[in-house]
Amino acid sequence: MAILDCAIIGGGPAGLTAGLYTTRGGLKNVTMFEKGMPGGQIMNSSEIENYPGVTGEITGMDLMTPWPAQCQKFGLIHEMINIVRISKKDNLFTIHKEDGTTTDAHSVIIGTGSSPRRAGFAGESEFFGRGVSTCATCDGFFYKGKEVAVIGGGDTALEEALHLAKICSKVYLIHRRDTFRSAPNTVERIKNTENIELVLNSVPDEVYGDNMGVTGIRVKNNDGELRDIELPGVFTFVGNDVNNQALIQEDGSFLCEMNEAGQVIVDISMKTSVAGLYATGDMRIASPKQVVSAAGDGAVAALQTISYVDELLN
Ligand code: FAD
Ligand code: NAP
Repeated sequence: MAILDCAIIGGGPAGLTAGLYTTRGGLKNVTMFEKGMPGGQIMNSSEIENYPGVTGEITGMDLMTPWPAQCQKFGLIHEMINIVRISKKDNLFTIHKEDGTTTDAHSVIIGTGSSPRRAGFAGESEFFGRGVSTCATCDGFFYKGKEVAVIGGGDTALEEALHLAKICSKVYLIHRRDTFRSAPNTVERIKNTENIELVLNSVPDEVYGDNMGVTGIRVKNNDGELRDIELPGVFTFVGNDVNNQALIQEDGSFLCEMNEAGQVIVDISMKTSVAGLYATGDMRIASPKQVVSAAGDGAVAALQTISYVDELLN
């Protein structure tokens, strides 16, 4: 197989924008390795209202659906596969795929984003997929007219609680503190939504159920008092872990410099400590973790990559 000008790892807003700018900017062989459908984690969002120029009630899927076709028009190839490792020898990167095959590339733009974290309460893993979920868009409808719990106090938890409140009879928003890590207008909307009950200074002690799935949650407050709430659905939104596995080398070290949180260290051009490797979006240090900034990173990295490949090959 021919050596790629650029391999893009991850097909979220960062990877897709990198794909658009590298192909439209003249790079010839560019493949985006995305293990699932392109679009990234925003595809799971029931509402996005802060992407510039896009107004009205629009879901993450609505926003992202046109992006892959726009890239393909300029020649971007999407290979649907999980990348297990990226290595570099001399000036050549090797992309190691889950099926055991490899592809070589002159440059790499990585934007593998992040994945939902588990909260760590009893019953969470046992009932995951049987009443415990991390995706309101995917699973909210199963609880139409029923009561559900939402765990977390960030933007995701609050926005998804608002979405669930439209479908479900009642939402218990369970948060371990009494202030939220979320946009003020979102907090205001939560407080003004009649069927959302705030359960503050509290954490889930246990989620329990039977063969059919979840039947209830036991919540413990800061004074150690326990409260049982009967309900069939629990949604956890307690943050994300960086998807940096593809950067781990055979000896366990990382291909490039990372910080203690596992985020890739980049400069303002998205350059990593390794020449020809750029990191973008949620996985990089100091990321604002927004669709618009991930897309911006993808564009910056692509423009840098075009210059890098040009210099390398000419
Ligand atoms: P991601 O979107 O995480 O995409 C990474 C992609 O890489 C994924 O498609 C994944 O499948 C793929 N991948 C990972 N590892 C591999 C591998 N080893 N091999 C191949 N493919 C791989 N932002 C906003 O601006 N506004 C909002 O309203 C908003 N709402 C949100 C609501 C929810 C529920 C969530 C979860 C996030 C929300 N965000 C919002 C944040 C936004 O989704 C992210 O900042 C953005 O998606 C980051 O883009 P990314 O391209 O860096 O990574
Ligand atoms: P987050 O901001 O990290 O919030 C996670 C929440 O979960 C926090 O409230 C945290 O509590 C709580 N939490 C963490 N571990 C817990 C545990 N084990 N048990 C109980 N609660 C726990 O994560 P996020 O809400 O997913 O947001 C991630 C990023 O995406 C943020 O930068 C956010 O701004 C962005 N985002 C933006 C939008 C938007 O712009 N509209 C929408 C969604 C996400 P503490 O508060 O006590 O730490």
